[in-house]
Parts: sequence; structure tokens; C-alpha cells
Amino acid sequence: MLIAAIDITERKAAESRVVYMAHHDALTALPNRILLRQRMEGMISDLRRSGRGFAVFCVDLDNFKWVNDTPGHPFGDLLLQSVAARLRTELRDQDTVARLGGDEFAILQADVGRPEEVSNLLARLLAIIGEPYDLEGHQVTVGASIGVALAPNDGEDPDRLLKNADMALYRAKADGKGGFRFFESEMDARVQGRRRLEMDLRVAIKDEACEVHYQPLVSLASGEVRSLEALIRWPHAQRGMIPPSDFIPVAEETGLIAPIGLFVLRRAYADAAQWPEDVNVAVNLSPMQFKSGNLLQAVHDALKDVGLPPMRLELEITETLLLDKSELVTATLHALRALGVHISMDDFSTGYSSLSYLRSFPFDKIKIDRSFVHDIGANTDLQAIVRAIVSLGSSLGIKITAEGVETESDLAYPKAEGCTEGQGYLFSKAQPQASILALLAKQRGKRAAA
Ligand code: C2E
Ligand code: MG
Ligand code: MG
Repeated sequence: MLIAAIDITERKAAESRVVYMAHHDALTALPNRILLRQRMEGMISDLRRSGRGFAVFCVDLDNFKWVNDTPGHPFGDLLLQSVAARLRTELRDQDTVARLGGDEFAILQADVGRPEEVSNLLARLLAIIGEPYDLEGHQVTVGASIGVALAPNDGEDPDRLLKNADMALYRAKADGKGGFRFFESEMDARVQGRRRLEMDLRVAIKDEACEVHYQPLVSLASGEVRSLEALIRWPHAQRGMIPPSDFIPVAEETGLIAPIGLFVLRRAYADAAQWPEDVNVAVNLSPMQFKSGNLLQAVHDALKDVGLPPMRLELEITETLLLDKSELVTATLHALRALGVHISMDDFSTGYSSLSYLRSFPFDKIKIDRSFVHDIGANTDLQAIVRAIVSLGSSLGIKITAEGVETESDLAYPKAEGCTEGQGYLFSKAQPQASILALLAKQRGKRAAA
């Protein structure tokens, strides 16, 4: 009799290591997405049997990017490990905490009878994540945003529940850091609405269905139109005119802002080429247009095609562009200026640190946001702010435009303080090119008569 015995301990150990690795995150040793789904499926069959629901939490750390960038990656890793450890201690054995990737975690709270059980855990999670961390001598504090979906009400399959918890997380983040939201079916409706808007917008771009209207910027000294701001208009077959504030954010999120921006730029140049030579055209730029890296080329090419001198173009940017102090942005702004293009800061004073942005780039023009101009006649605080901006502008050699001038009394104060230009319904709303040509012709007639 011949007996051969083979020791398969190592093979078994290796196999179980492979299985473990396929189901766990290497950094935190938490379950990964695959294991999370398996556990969810288990909970769903329990739910069918016992009728006891469960909750799905999507957790996203606030300020993680800062920790990863500033103290550095190793500290980011340490932080994720510490967060994972804290979450694990806060949960019962039957619950699950998984890492979905980056700074995103998911938690399954098993066996939820009453809604208070969910809100209690939510409060404990926010508190425990928010306590300071000591990362090898670095004291760090981070918060978290959390979105929650409840089974079976918000879904009875893993994909739907995770998607809904994630949608609630997205809303929580939009409301500000450190918050939480429960999924509501109206969120789903909003997301669907956005998706429809995006699809319609794609078609509108392809068909060039958007229009560009122009709103005058008037010299307060002479009363003449000095430049015209291009403002996009989208006439929608069912919904009427959709305001840019409704679709520009969607365009920015989906990357559609690049073709829209190019369309406005080209249309505005072509229209401006028909105006008198001393009337400039102002075009708004989205911060997203700077991210693509070929903005400079696009501006240059469009100008060349139409033969419009760069001096007649004013590009309006907002303070959010300068928030992250990126080299690409400053380099692009300087290069645009070197072409001869004017750069204006739009909606001035609505950002976080408006004054410091003035140091980061030599702007040609500041446009004071309309919230500081409208009703200024009755508000001494607004008057003090506008006076300060005008005096700052004049010492830095920057022109100042008052936006949102709706009444004579909105106009009187900025004019007396020495604002260079005004823009607002008192002078004119944005109008299509044909009306603008008529308006400019009238202005030329008046000047000739004078
Ligand atoms: P903005 O650049 O600050 O443009 C001025 C906005 O204020 C315009 O709104 C204009 O119609 C409105 N406005 C002008 N005068 C008055 C007034 O006296 N009272 C009031 N209440 N409002 C006045 P609009 O056209 O709805 O545009 C909103 C924003 O959408 C713009 O703010 C700009 O940031 C953005 N936008 C518009 N067109 C474009 C575009 O082609 N590209 C990009 N990236 N953004 C655009
Ligand atoms: Mg503007
Ligand atoms: Mg503005």
C-alpha cells in the first residue's frame, strides 16, 4: 500500500488570503464594495423574512483633500486608517463599515426598528469623526457629510439603496460641510430633471439654438454706451426662456460649458465686428473653461477669424476662479492680457477674500455686484462699501462698474462717488443684436448732432 500525503495548509492559506484581499480594502482592512454588496444582499433576505429594515449611510470626509495635499499623502493614509478604526468601534458586530474608495465610506446599520436608532447613530458618527486626530504629531480635525437611505422604503436592492444614499450625501454636501441628509424621493425627481435639462442642452448646443443678447455698460460721465456684455439666452420649446443661472451650473458639471463658451465667444465677436470701433464687447468666462488648458488658443483663434482687435474684448471672470490659486489660471490670465485683452472681475465682493484677489492679478475693471448697488440710496453700509471700493479702484488704476442699477437713486450714489460705468435695467436690459444695432445707431446720431 502506498500512501501519499500532501500538505495543503499553505495552499489553503494562500487561497483564503486571495479571497480576503478580493473582499477587503488594503489600506484600512475594511470590507470593500464587493463585500458590502454581499452583506447588503444578506440583510435584504433577512428583511424579507423578518420585516426588520436597515439603514445605509454614505460618509464623505470634509477637508480630506487638504490633509492629503498639505501634511501629505502618508498623513492622508493615517487619517483614513484612524477614521476606519473609530467607525469600527462605534458599530455593533452585525453592522458593516466599508471603504468605497478615496475618503468615502459606507455603513450598514442592521436591524433598524425605529427611526431614532438611525438618527442616534448618525449623531454619534458625526461626533466621533469630528474629534481631533493626532497623526504622528500633526493635530488634524476633519468633519464628515453623511447621506442616509432606509431599506425597504428607499429601495430593496443594493444598487438603488447605495445610489439613493449617495444622492442624499450629494445634497448634504451642497448644503455645506458637516451636514447630513436623509434621502427623499423629490431628490430623485430633481436629479431626473437635471438629466433631462442636460440632454436638452446637448441638443440645443448641436443645433446652435442658444442666442446671445447684449446689455449696455454706460459711461457715467458721458451717458454713452462703452461696452456691451454678452449674456447667453436659451429659448426652450416647452419651458420658455431658461435663465443662465439654471443651465450654466449644469453645463459646468457636465463639461458642456466648453462648447457653450466657445459659441458665445465666436457669436459675440462676430456681432461686435458690426459695432462702432469704440464699443467693446464683454464676455463671461466660467472657471471650468480655464481647466481645459486651450482657452488662450480658442480666444486667439476666434479673434483672428473675425479680425477683431484684442483691445475690444473684455473677459469677465469671477472670484471663484482665483480660489485655488492655480498656476495655470494666473499664467492664462497674464497671457490673455499680453494679447491685449482686458480682464474684469465680475460680481466683486460676493467672494470670500475679494481684496486678496486684487493683489493676485492686475485687473482692468471691477464690477461691483448688484447686491451692493441695488437700494444703495437708503443704505449707509452699502454706501460705505461702494466708497471704499471706488477709492481702492482709483488708487490701483482700475475702472469701476456698478452692476444692477435699477433706479435713479441706485445711480446717484455710485455716480457721485466716481464709479466709471453703470449697468442695469435703468439703462437697458440685455437685448438681441438687431435692437443693439438700432441703439448704437441712435447714439451715433446724437453724437453727430452734438
Ligand atoms: P453676470 O455676468 O453678473 O451678468 C449680469 C446679470 O445681471 C445678467 O443676468 C443680467 O441680466 C442681470 N442684470 C443686469 N442688470 C440688472 C438689474 O438692474 N437688476 C437685476 N435684478 N438684474 C440685472 P443673466 O443674463 O440672467 O445672467 C446671469 C449670470 O449667468 C451672469 O451674471 C453670468 O455669470 C452668467 N452668464 C450669462 N451668460 C453667460 C455666458 O455666456 N457664459 C458664462 N460662463 N456665464 C454666463
Ligand atoms: Mg458678467
Ligand atoms: Mg455680474
